[in-house]
Amino acid sequence: MSLDLSTRLSASQIAGGTIVVSLLVLALKLGAWALTDSVALFSDAMESLVNVSAAVLAWFAIRYAERPADDGHPFGHHKAEYFSAVIEGIMIILAAALIVHQAISALTSGAMANLTPVALVVNAAALAINLLWAQILLRSGLRLKSPAFEAGGRHLMSDVWTSAGVMGGLILVLVTGWTVLDPILALLVAVNILREGLHVVSDSVDGLMDKAASDEEQDKIRAVILGSGGGALQIHDIKTRRAGKAIFVEFHMVVDGAMTVAQSHDICDRLEHEIEATLPGVHVTIHVEPDHKLEDSGLEPTPPAPR
Ligand SMILES: [Zn+2]
Ligand SMILES: [Zn+2]
Repeated sequence: MSLDLSTRLSASQIAGGTIVVSLLVLALKLGAWALTDSVALFSDAMESLVNVSAAVLAWFAIRYAERPADDGHPFGHHKAEYFSAVIEGIMIILAAALIVHQAISALTSGAMANLTPVALVVNAAALAINLLWAQILLRSGLRLKSPAFEAGGRHLMSDVWTSAGVMGGLILVLVTGWTVLDPILALLVAVNILREGLHVVSDSVDGLMDKAASDEEQDKIRAVILGSGGGALQIHDIKTRRAGKAIFVEFHMVVDGAMTVAQSHDICDRLEHEIEATLPGVHVTIHVEPDHKLEDSGLEPTPPAPR
């Protein structure tokens, strides 16, 4: 029934829906925490808070990253995406620190959570909404071929498992009266949030450090050079770097030293065009060299058929 949504929603409806759903889930989790003073429920709510702020930040960052190049930023604004991830990482570390602080003060003061079945039902509702939205994201990600939605769905599923663990633990507290489990659960959630945060931060640091395009992307680029570089003697010093959605590629192209500038420019244009058609978002820069610059190894494109 409601999963039908995943076949009808457009990409922007899903992106907007994700923010609405995460705000609703956050409100329910904060409500459950306010009803109980449970540190575990606080940690669950903190995880949601981080998700909401990350989604909003990412929305702004992606819009900023899509701005066209200008005089001040002639290569474009692609790397803006990585700053939102770095800020997300900092928020995650703050959230984890807050949780640890609350858990330790609960453990040392012996203050008990006032768990009530009502609060657990409120939290269960938040869990159910997250579960439903995660499935919609995963299915829409497949349908719209959007890795971002699929990643969002997987992230939400990991949150669902965290919440389920917290709920299970709190039901155990309710049944057994072992209230010490509450701050311990919170500490486990903090570790989980930190683990996620490290992942996000290390991905963005790679981006800021001009990490090369993926092996798969580099293979595609080499295949196009070999197939479409006819007329060039050798291609060497291929360098790639990824900046957000963009990939920058540069290489040296060795041609017969007697070739005219117009002829070598034709090869460059063909290569640029074919590479950009194969990998959208690629920007190609080619440095042309005469044949005494041949190197020991490099790609040798298939020569054009004799006319
Ligand atoms: Zn060279
Ligand atoms: Zn040109």
